[in-house]
Amino acid sequence: MGDGTLGMNPGDYGAEELDQERRDQEYMEELYNMEQRYAITEKAKIGSQMQCPFCGIFITKTTYNKKFCHKGCKDKYWNNVNDKRRDRSHAYSKGR
Ligand SMILES: [Zn+2]
Repeated sequence: MGDGTLGMNPGDYGAEELDQERRDQEYMEELYNMEQRYAITEKAKIGSQMQCPFCGIFITKTTYNKKFCHKGCKDKYWNNVNDKRRDRSHAYSKGR
């Protein structure tokens, strides 16, 4: 990953459960941000600057289908997005 923005929130964690809940929430927010960035990369014009949806570094769109700085980011992005979809349906069936 590398830019250190994921899950960095030192400080006032209380009970472990709260910690977990907060991390879940931050994770969901981060995924939401990723999806927002992804939507931007889809519309970006060739030659323009955009952010890698997964890691957030600035890259230049060089081909019409370029969306990530690296193949690894693309794989991780889709893994995370697909996980989120699964988690959501689980969460609902558990009645949380
Ligand atoms: Zn990246």
